[in-house]
Amino acid sequence: MRTLTLRRATLCTALACLLACHPRSAEVEAPSTPTLILAGITLRDPGAEGPAGANPVTVVIEGDRIARILDPHETVPAGARTIDASGLYLIPGLWDLHTHLSLTGDMFSRLLVAHGVTAVRDLGGNVEQLEALRARIESGELLGPRIVRAGPTLNGAPNAAHHRVIATPEEAATAVAELKAAGMDLLKTHNATDREVYFALLEAAAQQGMKLAGHIPKGVDPIEACRAGQYSVEHIATIFEGTYISRFDGDLEAIQAMPTWLATEADELIDCFVEYQTLFVPTLRTYRVRARWAAWTDDPDPLLDLLGEDVRNSWLEGAAPTEKDRNPKVIELRDSLVTVGQELVRRLHEAGAPIGAGTDFSGPGVLPGKDLHRELELFVEAGLLPREALLTATRGPGGEAGGDARQGRLVEGAPADLVLLRRDPFESVEALGEIEAVVLRGRLIERREIDGIFEGHE
Ligand SMILES: [Zn+2]
Repeated sequence: MRTLTLRRATLCTALACLLACHPRSAEVEAPSTPTLILAGITLRDPGAEGPAGANPVTVVIEGDRIARILDPHETVPAGARTIDASGLYLIPGLWDLHTHLSLTGDMFSRLLVAHGVTAVRDLGGNVEQLEALRARIESGELLGPRIVRAGPTLNGAPNAAHHRVIATPEEAATAVAELKAAGMDLLKTHNATDREVYFALLEAAAQQGMKLAGHIPKGVDPIEACRAGQYSVEHIATIFEGTYISRFDGDLEAIQAMPTWLATEADELIDCFVEYQTLFVPTLRTYRVRARWAAWTDDPDPLLDLLGEDVRNSWLEGAAPTEKDRNPKVIELRDSLVTVGQELVRRLHEAGAPIGAGTDFSGPGVLPGKDLHRELELFVEAGLLPREALLTATRGPGGEAGGDARQGRLVEGAPADLVLLRRDPFESVEALGEIEAVVLRGRLIERREIDGIFEGHE
């Protein structure tokens, strides 16, 4: 097993560095100092099109950006901490596109980074707690991901503490203006939003230049939501929880009818998602965990020990499995929602619609980081290539990430949020289980620091 070796850790003056790094410095606009160099690493950029470029390469990081990518024959600049990364593979940092981070403790943030998740799109939380968390992460007090956030979930009726009720079109417009002023990056809605209020919400969002993600309200057909411009649709179930489920006597009956939906009606929705490039974040792993919840609680994942006594109690006792949860027929039906989701993911992907990887933690049993890896495995099982599955987590959420086309890429100027792997992730996404190091905003987090997180260190 390869380990990192520190080849050089020298500091130099700006002048010495200028001379050493840029012998032909006449064309160089400003003196710049590399801060970290990954020598001899193999790039695995899921967003790269066309034939792969030279590999291995040397990646020069300055501050929080990739400054240069050098071919093996080019001179490696001196003066920075240089890591011999030969035999290792480099991917862009992962995004979890559906989290509720403000509802969790610090260990969730650390475990995300330990699993290579360097950014999240937070879809529903307490604004004050989110901003405090962001400040602690930015100052370096807490190891954690970059957070793109929606703030409160806008819903017709609250079904959680962080929901903000929008009961009228006017309330929707006020909420959007306030959240825009508070600096939120996007908006999130839920299934109890009234039809009229939902369309007013989309209009207000468009006026403020914000995008709407979330569930599809129960009174809105998924195709209407697509055509009206909801940019991201969350959870496989939301496609069925409104107009579709109301045709049946109960949830379980509707689940049984879903294969028929796939065979008859799905194409129209798929065409719309392709035309509007609607991002679909199915959160399949969450449904797998729910379907097999009794088995999960009978043999909890060892990571649960790290999440603290409160989480343990709320999952194992507060959400203890019921008799229904142990009924094999119910388990099979709930599990079939994952199978339906996988077929929809495969067909959307083949047709050209974007798929996103998200976990929806902090629901019971959903583990930070680890279950994002599981989500990608479910995408591969659905028929995506490992590279295509990785892209669902590296591409990021779209415009609200700051509109930087280099985000999620391994190119000069891209953010230095990176994961170093011991195995080739284009061969298998299970390589995500073998992280050698993470680069977070330009800072190298070595394996021993990651091991410390798994041992429960702060
Ligand atoms: Zn959620």
